[in-house]
Amino acid sequence: MRVIPDITTCRDAVRAAQQAGNRVGLVPTMGALHDGHLSLVRAARAGCDMTAVTIFVNPTQFGPGEDLASYPRTLEKDLELCEQAGVDLVFTPEVETMYPGGTYTTVHVEKLTEGLCGAYRPRHFDGVTTVVAKLFQILPADAAYFGEKDYQQLVVIKQMVRDLNIPIEIVGCPTVRESDGLALSSRNAYLSSDERQQALSLSRALMAAREQVASGECDAMALTARIRRTIEDAGPAKIDYVAVVDPEDLTLLTEIERDARICLAVRIGNCRLIDNIGVSR
Ligand code: AMP
Repeated sequence: MRVIPDITTCRDAVRAAQQAGNRVGLVPTMGALHDGHLSLVRAARAGCDMTAVTIFVNPTQFGPGEDLASYPRTLEKDLELCEQAGVDLVFTPEVETMYPGGTYTTVHVEKLTEGLCGAYRPRHFDGVTTVVAKLFQILPADAAYFGEKDYQQLVVIKQMVRDLNIPIEIVGCPTVRESDGLALSSRNAYLSSDERQQALSLSRALMAAREQVASGECDAMALTARIRRTIEDAGPAKIDYVAVVDPEDLTLLTEIERDARICLAVRIGNCRLIDNIGVSR
């Protein structure tokens, strides 16, 4: 496994692999790797000949007062996990390598970034699309793997790739959960054991909603009200949003006619948790 901190060496390694006839898969991450990230690596390895992971805590996607300084950084362990998982190349740039001098161009996707997390984290998605567009230039892979855990991010990146004619296939992968339902997240490390117990209400509420939709409930208001109650009953939490949206364009639905995505963001203690689930009638 090669660990490469500089741009030219990284791009040359990807291009050389492609020239030798290999399909290259890319897994962008902010590190503090867990089995959710590793599921993307497994998907990349299954679909490609060479797998590249990027580890970069991207400052431009954090807002003022968010957790950039305290975000978990565990590079040594991450590299061990990558090695064990059969990753071929890890790109580990410094902030100065990605944003020399601090000045940069911004990639902005309209509409899809306005609602859900976009309404609570202004400019977050500009930071995400800008860094992912840059990573796609540095590692011009054939396919890139993203988790449905960050569902809005996945939809936004698919749109960016279409709009900018970037020749990389975007592959969405299912959310990996603990056996009790909690979606794996690097930020789960911030939860105390009581808060973690309380956080189980998110997946419990979403899974109950999925059952209700399958049994015929199609009223989005009724569904979101029940989800909110389940979360509020579990303990003190600040619910940013619970929303039933169209799975393709993320517009709010009042009624579920076929497929929908239920997305939520909740603050428990110092931790902002997001989760979502696909539902269909
Ligand atoms: P992050 O390091 O949080 O920026 O995440 C890097 C990638 O891993 C993103 O595509 C996430 O959607 C994905 N990811 C994070 N948590 C999970 C999970 N529990 N299951 C599947 N993918 C995940």
